[in-house]
Amino acid sequence: MNTKTAEFKIIQRCVICWFIFFIHALVILCRTCSCADADHDSTGPVSLAQYFPVGHWRTREEMQFEVEYINSDEGWAGDMLGRADAARRVLNRATRDALLVRIHVIIAPDQDIFIKMVGGWAENSVAVALPEQRTIVLNGDKLRIGAPSDLANTLVHEFAHLYLDLRCVRERPRWLEEGIAMHVAGQWESEDAAAVFIAAIIGGLIPLREMEQSFPVAVDSQRLAYRESYSVTNYLVQTTAGGSLPDFIASLSGQEGGCNLDSFWNPLQRDALEIQWKRGLRSVSNWSFLVLSSGFFWGLVALLTVIAWITLRVRRRKLHTQWDDEEKIYEALDEDDRLIWGDDEAEGDDEKPEKPENEPPPGRKPHRPGRRCFPR
Ligand SMILES: [Zn+2]
Repeated sequence: MNTKTAEFKIIQRCVICWFIFFIHALVILCRTCSCADADHDSTGPVSLAQYFPVGHWRTREEMQFEVEYINSDEGWAGDMLGRADAARRVLNRATRDALLVRIHVIIAPDQDIFIKMVGGWAENSVAVALPEQRTIVLNGDKLRIGAPSDLANTLVHEFAHLYLDLRCVRERPRWLEEGIAMHVAGQWESEDAAAVFIAAIIGGLIPLREMEQSFPVAVDSQRLAYRESYSVTNYLVQTTAGGSLPDFIASLSGQEGGCNLDSFWNPLQRDALEIQWKRGLRSVSNWSFLVLSSGFFWGLVALLTVIAWITLRVRRRKLHTQWDDEEKIYEALDEDDRLIWGDDEAEGDDEKPEKPENEPPPGRKPHRPGRRCFPR
């Protein structure tokens, strides 16, 4: 009996073990399948062919660029090839290097197709780089309303992402990636510096740890994230590479640069960098940026308007008070006239042919035409 019970228990345990093993294997298999699908979706080459039938879109190749567009954007395609070549020359000059890979440029005809191709996170973007595909997707709707100079800077910015992906062997924090791209494209104005400075003064900066993987989607927060990225990156360029952007990028390139990039992911080093950067931002020399802020300008205009309005109100009130006092004096004088001359005389004094006996002393003039002032 005891032997049978022991055998039964052993068999029972074996069945349980096999069942657990089977469940684990099934879970791992499912996870593998789902990861494969995700990888396929995220890395699959994007193309207008996924959204438009054959004949509604075409490609044009020139100077190591391939532009993909729908038929109605034919005019944009030729312009894009010329601008793309110019943007690559700007990038090469800024990095003192050469980006020689073939680049695929897709002009998404509208916002909907653009978001379908790159994701909803980019709803406020003019363009998005897909470095693993050597591809740039442009938002056609935003291209049509933007200035040509904006398009040129946008292309340089996106090419910088492709360039960094080629040169760096490790991932870059998002703030560093965007900061370098903005630096290469020269996307920085005094108003940006003022905005970052004001955010630093009022404690409104976005922490670097919140900008490592992605940026906020809201327009204002996203704009601040880009501005901060440039500011921190510029601080690094100035303090670690003597102000040379090519030297700074070189320090992040290759295997040796990989170690430097790792340091930006280290919370201790990242937080230390953030503290030093913020301290530099609040320095006295940066207070001049306050004057350059458009918010400061309009605030000053509003302040001056309010001061002018208050001054006018005070002056008017003084005049009214003065007029009221004069009116009281005239009423008192009229009363004196009535007491001295009587009602008829006081009202018709202008018609009196003779001068009154008690003439006002010389040098004292009547307060108002038609009225006479008598000493009391
Ligand atoms: Zn970017």
